[in-house]
Amino acid sequence: MALKLFNTLERSVQPFTPMDPWQKRVGMYCCGPTVYDFAHIGNWRTFVFADLVRRALEFSGYDVNHVMNITDVEDKIIRKVRDNKTTLRAFTGRFEAAFLEDLQALHCRLPHHMPRATDYIAEIIDLIGRLIHRGIAYQAADGSVYFSIEKYRGCGCNYGQLLKLNFDGLRVGERVSADEYEKESVADFALWKARVAEDGEVFWGSPFGEGRPGWHIECSAMSMKVLGESFDLHLGGEDLKFPHHEDEIAQSEGATGKPFVRHWLHGAHLLVEGKKMSKSLGNFFTLRDLLAKGFTGREVRHLLLSAHYRETFNFTLDGLQGAKSALARIDECVGKLREITRSAAAVPEPALLEPFASALEDDLNISAAWAAVFDWVRETNKRIAENSLPPLAAAGALAAWERVDSVLGIGCKSEAPVPAEIAALAAERTEAKKARDFQRADAIRDRLKSMGWVIEDSPKGLKLKKI
Ligand code: AMP
Ligand code: ZN
Repeated sequence: MALKLFNTLERSVQPFTPMDPWQKRVGMYCCGPTVYDFAHIGNWRTFVFADLVRRALEFSGYDVNHVMNITDVEDKIIRKVRDNKTTLRAFTGRFEAAFLEDLQALHCRLPHHMPRATDYIAEIIDLIGRLIHRGIAYQAADGSVYFSIEKYRGCGCNYGQLLKLNFDGLRVGERVSADEYEKESVADFALWKARVAEDGEVFWGSPFGEGRPGWHIECSAMSMKVLGESFDLHLGGEDLKFPHHEDEIAQSEGATGKPFVRHWLHGAHLLVEGKKMSKSLGNFFTLRDLLAKGFTGREVRHLLLSAHYRETFNFTLDGLQGAKSALARIDECVGKLREITRSAAAVPEPALLEPFASALEDDLNISAAWAAVFDWVRETNKRIAENSLPPLAAAGALAAWERVDSVLGIGCKSEAPVPAEIAALAAERTEAKKARDFQRADAIRDRLKSMGWVIEDSPKGLKLKKI
């Protein structure tokens, strides 16, 4: 079976076929973070979803060129730079670094390209120039350059590809200068915003005067520069369908006359404890907040990946506790397999791999994919308990798990599970050390060694490793 994905352009699940004539390479762009604060857990649902899409494509044998931009200049950032009396780079640099740290904590594969909008000002200016040249963009009396929806539609182009829009109330030339606006205010939107006093030092020179780019044009310029004028896959959270993605399509197709993106994917939103996240409700979590509560990145990742990407998902701290025990079950099973055999076999066993692959290919049916994993865990545990899993079969099972985890990306604790007797001895040693009975502490350490375990003391606490 081939990979099928929902395509927002078609409003239906479609077979995924890349443009590459050899059906091998896939260009994929995901709208990245706006670096004006730490990314919250809702943002992370979307970025982990993008990581899942990339991993699923790689699992299906494609070579993915994964691009995720960094939005480092737009309305909210400029407001914050002004309020904090700092410079653009100093302000955004801090949140960009934090974003990359969080990305790794959540086991996301690093995108191949992470262009920053401020490094693409020349490409943005060039793109706006092309739109002016084609008569689709115009400079208004306020000095800003706007995209004309009327002219664009007049060229036979369709504005409203991702969302049905109502043009009845549209007044020609009505303009909106903010980066974010509602569907009801379909209007000419800003490509280049003329410099105003509130922008402070955030401006660039251009043939249309000093100013700064609008948010939407940034993504058109960066994606086309890195992936070409037409590419395979574009994704983001569902809130970006309008105006951001609709405007990206209009700007790109308006400038090139070519189809911009073949396949659009949108992830549904995350609620926290049943509500939209907000600081005043106390349900606003960054990844850092959750790590500080003692959860791990892989637990958060597991929970974020537990529901289908097109379904709204309710994130709860109880759910996170559930993720902890679900992962412990997998860890224990994989740990036991590693005790039976040291290496994975060349041929993964199909009992896990086949149901997992068909779930994934069915528009990333993640619930069915996890069900395949937990059925396998149950079955494998049973076989181990019955002593009916020889090393060769265990190696096949491990190989299957490794293939599956190349998509899920939760990793497994590589340490073998610590038997109760060993843990008790280690606790006794800690007590002895506390009582400053070092002789006894050393004797216990030697005894553990003779039983095949070493104790490592680290600032984070004690670690037991199998020799
Ligand atoms: P931003 O940094 O605000 O540009 O958002 C980054 C990404 O997070 C975008 O793709 C948004 O659609 C997505 N996003 C924002 N809020 C949520 C949420 N509550 N649930 C899921 N995705 C979200
Ligand atoms: Zn974007």
